[in-house]
Amino acid sequence: METTLVLLKPSCVSRGLIGEIINRFERRGLQIVGMKMMQLDDDKLREHYSHLVNKPFFPALAKSMKASPIVAMALQGVEAVTVVRGMTGYTNGRTADPGTIRGDYSMSNQQNIVHASDSIDSAEKELARFFKPEEIYPYKHALAEYLYAPDEY
Ligand code: UDP
Ligand code: MG
Repeated sequence: METTLVLLKPSCVSRGLIGEIINRFERRGLQIVGMKMMQLDDDKLREHYSHLVNKPFFPALAKSMKASPIVAMALQGVEAVTVVRGMTGYTNGRTADPGTIRGDYSMSNQQNIVHASDSIDSAEKELARFFKPEEIYPYKHALAEYLYAPDEY
């Protein structure tokens, strides 16, 4: 089992799409093991987007990420990191494939609805950035045996 981090960005929250996007993850069979709304600040954003702080678009990105609260989610499942990145789609909503979240809900390279961890290593670091250990709640998924074959989880 893996756990990955998803952020529902202000482009999701402000457009009233929280429920719709969460529904997609639940329908896929991912288990929500942590979830909270929070307001991001510059310190958190410089840490979270440390690979982008020197890009010319960083100030606009930071502004867009502070425009409303976000919803942080910890999603668990077999190969959850890869599964969730696949559901997220390419960064730019205009080139993201239809059927992906960005490809179905966005028209922008910046206002692209969700963040999702891009590797197991980033997932671990990013979950620790947004959740205290006690805010992740492991519990049995009632449908586990219908989501997976016995040798898959
Ligand atoms: N971003 C942007 N302009 C760009 C590239 C990225 O505003 O030219 C924003 C966009 O919101 C993206 C985030 O920066 O989701 C993080 O960029 P990254 O390359 O890590 O893409 P992601 O992993 O989100 O697909
Ligand atoms: Mg990224």
